[in-house]
Amino acid sequence: MAEFRPGSADQDEFLVELTKAGLLVESGIPGVYGRGTDFERVRLGFDSLVAAAAVGDDAERLSFSPLLPRRQIEELGYLNSFPHLAGTIFAFDGDEAQAAEQATVASAGGDWSGFQSMSDLCLTPAVCYPVYPAIAARGKLPAGGVTIDTGGSYAFRHEPSGDPARLQMFHMHELVRIAEPETVVEWRDGWRDRALELLRGVGLDANFDVANDPFFGRTGRMLARSQRSQELKFEILCDITEPEPTAIASFNYHQDHFSGTYGLEMEDPDTPAHTACLGFGLERITLALLRTHGLDPSGWPEDVRDKLSLG
Ligand code: AMP
Ligand code: ZN
Repeated sequence: MAEFRPGSADQDEFLVELTKAGLLVESGIPGVYGRGTDFERVRLGFDSLVAAAAVGDDAERLSFSPLLPRRQIEELGYLNSFPHLAGTIFAFDGDEAQAAEQATVASAGGDWSGFQSMSDLCLTPAVCYPVYPAIAARGKLPAGGVTIDTGGSYAFRHEPSGDPARLQMFHMHELVRIAEPETVVEWRDGWRDRALELLRGVGLDANFDVANDPFFGRTGRMLARSQRSQELKFEILCDITEPEPTAIASFNYHQDHFSGTYGLEMEDPDTPAHTACLGFGLERITLALLRTHGLDPSGWPEDVRDKLSLG
């Protein structure tokens, strides 16, 4: 079992305020919450703001379910880098007698895992993953490549925590660029400024920093150092709760990682196809807005309400 990471005093207090106000609804499992009307209006308001910006980018909308074929998690090396975060779907395919036994054991609170076997599905840990094989299946990319907008969709990470901003199931709105290496890098750097503008435009004190992914184990620490030194990952951070700022958006340059796995190619045989993605964490942005402007969006500054289409 992934270890529960307790919240700080400030995070515990914020979670109580959020549930009291009906913004979040507890499920009994840390990091899994229902969301009330105001929370959803703000989250979807920001989601639309990103979608509108992506239209200006000539992005193609391509959305997927929060389930990922298990094969993808296997071939991407996710189990090497993040075995602690992955969620696998198990299901029952036994006979009637086994079904009855499973139900008896389960209703008595016993261990019914022996009746379950691994299905072909995992929970999507990052919303951009299904995009790469889908684009590769179309064939070689013309000069300039493609920009994809996934929309806001669910991602799962097994990291139970008392911090209301560290969820197990949350929405990421991703934009993905697949093109020539220079085009991809230029796009990522340009979006860094546009994303800051978007987040500061709704009143968030957002700042930008070099970052690394939470790679697993000792080898993981080496991978994290190398990712940082090559500046492959950036984050936009914002103060939500003590003791430290929270990443509300991330920018990843994968170089040829996904191209190599899925055979993404440019039409020009002399130019490799590279990929980058940018992910806005929609619940974290909503929480940052609630912390910044107050728990009642009806009292938020008029220009912020306008931008988020809060009426
Ligand atoms: P990542 O793929 O880890 O860079 O995540 C993309 C974005 O999703 C981050 O910038 C966060 O805003 C958000 N995010 C990542 N992990 C979590 C989590 N456990 N709970 C809520 N949001 C998250
Ligand atoms: Zn991504």
